[in-house]
Amino acid sequence: MRRLNRNLDSASFPPSFTGPNRLAWELELLQQQREIRRQPTEKHKFQASRWKQAKGQLIRETINKCAYCEVNFTTVAYGDVEHYRPKSIYWWLAYTYFNYAPSCQLCNQKFKKANFPIPSAALQAPLVRKNSSDSYLNRLAGFITPDPLDDTLGRPFAAFTADHTNERPLSIDPYLDDPLDYFAYDHDDNVKEVWIIPLNNTVSGIALSCIDLYGLNRKDLRTKRYQALFNYRAVREIVEITTPGSRPNRAARASLQLLLMDNAEFLGMYQHYETRPVDPVPDII
Ligand SMILES: [Zn+2]
Repeated sequence: MRRLNRNLDSASFPPSFTGPNRLAWELELLQQQREIRRQPTEKHKFQASRWKQAKGQLIRETINKCAYCEVNFTTVAYGDVEHYRPKSIYWWLAYTYFNYAPSCQLCNQKFKKANFPIPSAALQAPLVRKNSSDSYLNRLAGFITPDPLDDTLGRPFAAFTADHTNERPLSIDPYLDDPLDYFAYDHDDNVKEVWIIPLNNTVSGIALSCIDLYGLNRKDLRTKRYQALFNYRAVREIVEITTPGSRPNRAARASLQLLLMDNAEFLGMYQHYETRPVDPVPDII
C-alpha cells in the first residue's frame, strides 16, 4: 500500500459528485433515512450506477492499481469502487467521492466485504428523526459531506479528515494516512515470500487489523511481492557495489528509476526500502 492523492482537476472530475447533483443525492439519502426511522423495515435504496461513475477517475488516480494490495488489476478485471467506510453502516457516505477507493475484487469482495473495524464508537450519523421536517432535511443536504471541487459548498474537508482521525479506524485510508508510517516487510529467501508486517509496536494494532481486513498477506501476494523485492534488491546491490558513472552503475540506476515509477506494483514496498538497507540477493535461488 502506498500514499495516494486525489486528482481534483475539474476538467476530468466526474461532475455528479459535486455541485447541485451532490446536494440532490444527499437529500435523497436523508429522506430515505427518515423513512427508515418511520418504518424500520425500510432500507436505503443505494444505486451502484452512481459510484460506478467515479471508477474511471479513481483508476487514473492509482494508475490502474488496487489502492490496497497495489496490484495492477485493469489488465484482467474491471475492479470495484470500494467504499472505505461501508455504506451499510455509514449510509450518508454512500455517494461521497472521498469515501471511494479503486480496489481489486479480492481485496474488496473476498476479504473486506462490509467489515470496518473501529476501536470504540463509530462516527455520529447525521441526525434524522421520523418527524424531521422537509425544510430541516433541505438545510442539512449538501453539508454532510465535502464537495470535492469547492470546499465552501459542503462539509469542510478539514472536518471530514478530523472525523477520520477521531474515529481512528483499525484500517488505513491510503488517501488520508501514509502507509509508510504503518507497514514494513519481512522477506524469506527459503520459501520465497514477503510478508507485510507492522512498522513498529505503536502502530501494530492498526497495521495488523488492516492487513487482515484486506487479506494483504494472501499467498499470491506474498509470492508476487517476493519476486518484485528480489528484483529491487538485485538492482540496489548493483547500484551500491559498482563505480558511480560506470556503465553497469548507470544501467542499474535506470532500472531502479523504472521500478520506482508511479505505476509500479508494490511501489509502497520499494518506498519503504528506499531509506533503508536491503539484504544482498542470494547466489542461488
Ligand atoms: Zn487488491
